[in-house]
Amino acid sequence: MIEFKNVSKTYEGGFLALKDINLTIPDGEFVSIIGSSGAGKSTLIRTINKMHDISSGELIVNGKDVSKLKGEELRNYRRTIGMVFQGFNLVERTTAQKNVLSTFVPDLNFFQKLFGIYTKDMKRKSLEALDSVDILDKAYSRTDALSGGQKQRVALARTIVQNPKIILADEPIASLDPVSSRQVMNYFKKLNREAGITVIVNIHDVETALEYSDRILGIKKGELAFDGKPSEVNVDVIRNIYGQDPKNIVVE
Ligand code: ADP
Repeated sequence: MIEFKNVSKTYEGGFLALKDINLTIPDGEFVSIIGSSGAGKSTLIRTINKMHDISSGELIVNGKDVSKLKGEELRNYRRTIGMVFQGFNLVERTTAQKNVLSTFVPDLNFFQKLFGIYTKDMKRKSLEALDSVDILDKAYSRTDALSGGQKQRVALARTIVQNPKIILADEPIASLDPVSSRQVMNYFKKLNREAGITVIVNIHDVETALEYSDRILGIKKGELAFDGKPSEVNVDVIRNIYGQDPKNIVVE
């Protein structure tokens, strides 16, 4: 469970990016965060794995006070959270499998690290993860030879080997074509439904958000402007979150 209690975030320089957020996300929920560019969606997501520190309030994840985590405890905590980015964050000049294996680097001893030696078990898990997103045939391909959709599936495989409880995804389909976008969203859904992983995704395509999610959060200028079911999102809600009728967004 993820609990935000009166959470605010001020960036250095004084910009108030999150204002008094109160929110509880139970395990296994599929949550999409929508809102204009600069609204604070990415900041909100990144406080959960402590990529950004909160400035005030309390953020409790699975009973842990995230602000207090440091060192080994923070590393162990972060292992329970997978992160997927718009730009994939893969090493392009190596293979898909090596990107997935990179998750295990902290588990290697000095010599294994030096020579890039992974155990049989790690190799098996990396191939299983690639297989689970139907990209096993690209395991030994260089990452820069893959399409955007394939890269995002490799990035997903890299989080899957972590065995995460939570996946955070920051605009994971923003760089993808419509077909690849649906494929990637379907894998998120599968992980959510079959493995019970909590999925929290920033998404600017409202229709996709409504289709895939259990719950929609609307962020407007750092505030939680909407929190409800996809079926509760109507034109007025969209108008409120975006401050205008967003172009190309159709809500029945
Ligand atoms: P979104 O994901 O909704 O586009 P962000 O969370 O990325 O929004 O950003 C929210 C606001 O915080 C923006 O106005 C952005 O300029 C500002 N911001 C983001 N990161 C930083 C930072 N590291 N330092 C200062 N301001 C930042």
